[in-house]
Amino acid sequence: MASEIELKPCSFCGGKAEMVSDFDDEHYVYCTGCKGGWKTMETPEEAAAAWNRRANDE
Ligand SMILES: [Zn+2]
Repeated sequence: MASEIELKPCSFCGGKAEMVSDFDDEHYVYCTGCKGGWKTMETPEEAAAAWNRRANDE
């Protein structure tokens, strides 16, 4: 559960991304630069994958 998850920099502003966990099954990545949240997923791993996919696509 405490595994390190690598997050790519924000594709919009290059800011630092942080994992946010609201509940046990609601996790999303938040950009500290442009204050943008990304897709809410059931696990931190899925949230990180969705975020990193976006970063790769841009
Ligand atoms: Zn950003």
